Amino acid sequence: MNHNTYIKRCIELAEKALGKTYPNPLVGSVIVHNDRIIGEGFHKKAGEPHAEINAISSIKDEDKHLIPESTIYVSLEPCAHFGKTPPCALKIVELGFKKVVIGAMDSHDKVNGKGKKIITDAGIEVVSSILEDESRGLNKRFFTYHEKKRPYIILKWAQSADGFMDKDFKPIQISNSLSKQFVHQMRSEEHAILVGKNTALHDNPSLTVREIEGRNPIRILIDFNLEVPDDFNIYSEEAETIIFNSIKNSEEKHLKFVKVERENSLEKILGKLYGLQIQSVIIEGGRFTLQQFIDQDLWDEAIIFKNPDLYIKNGTKAPNFDSIPQKTGKLRDTEVLFFKNQGLD
Ligand SMILES: [Zn+2]
Repeated sequence: MNHNTYIKRCIELAEKALGKTYPNPLVGSVIVHNDRIIGEGFHKKAGEPHAEINAISSIKDEDKHLIPESTIYVSLEPCAHFGKTPPCALKIVELGFKKVVIGAMDSHDKVNGKGKKIITDAGIEVVSSILEDESRGLNKRFFTYHEKKRPYIILKWAQSADGFMDKDFKPIQISNSLSKQFVHQMRSEEHAILVGKNTALHDNPSLTVREIEGRNPIRILIDFNLEVPDDFNIYSEEAETIIFNSIKNSEEKHLKFVKVERENSLEKILGKLYGLQIQSVIIEGGRFTLQQFIDQDLWDEAIIFKNPDLYIKNGTKAPNFDSIPQKTGKLRDTEVLFFKNQGLD
C-alpha cells in the first residue's frame, strides 16, 4: 500500500462530518503499522477532539506499543496552536511516531507550516502534499474562507426549459421531489444560506432542512429597509438568522441584525460574514441577488436545476449566466448542471 491509499482513507473518514465541523476544517487520520491500519478517526464537531487524537484513541491497548514504529496519516497539517484542545503536533511528538504523512498543508494563519515544523524539529520524518488537490478539495470552504477572507459561495436556482424562475411572477414548483431532497442535503452541508428581500417576501421560505436529517444552515437575509414582516418563516426560531440592513445593529435571541452600507454592499456583506466566521453560503435567490453575485464574479460554484419539459412563457427570467457546466446529471426528470468558477484560481 502506498501513501495515496491511506490519505484517500483519511479523506473518506473526514467527509463523514461534512457540514458539522464549522468553523473547523474536515480532517481524517489513519495510523498504520507494517501496512496494517491500527487506528483511525476524524474530527466530528468543533470543540471535540481533532482527527489525530480520535485516531490515537482508537488504537487497541495491545497495539499501543507499536506507535513508535507507526506512521500517522492526516489529510490536513496537524495543528500547532492551543485552541479548545492542545495542539496535535505536540501529541504526535510526545508519542514519538516514526513518520507523519500530510495531505494538504494548512494555510490558516495559526498553523501555516508551524505544525509540520514542530514535528520535523523533533526529528520525526514528515512527508507532505500527498493527494494535495483532493485534500484541498475536501476543505474547499475552509481554504477559500482563510485565503480569500470570504465564505465559499454556491449559487443555486431552478429554471424552466425556457429560462423562467416562476410563472406570472408567482412561485411555481419547477423541479421534482428528488431535487428538493438534494437541495436539503446541500443546506445541511453548507454553513449558511442567503436570500434577498424579494424572495423572502414572495416565497416566504423557511430555508431549513426538512426532507432529510441534518442541521439547519444559518439563514442570511438582505433587507435594507426591514420590509420582511417578523412573522415570516425566515424569522422562525428553528434556525439562526442574520439580517443585513441599513437601520440597526442588534441581537435578539436567534436573530442578529447587522447594519451595512448600500454602496458596494455585497463586498461589505461578505466581509461581515468573514468576521462572523461563516465559511460557506448558498445563494438561493432570487434573480436580483443572484445576478449581483454573478456580475461581480463573486461565486465558486453554481448549481442549476432545469426542467426540460416545462415551458412558462411569462415570469421572472433566470439570471444571465454564460458559463459552461463542468458536469451535468439527472435527478429523474430534472436536469442538474454543475458549474465551477475557473477564473478564480
Ligand atoms: Zn489538531
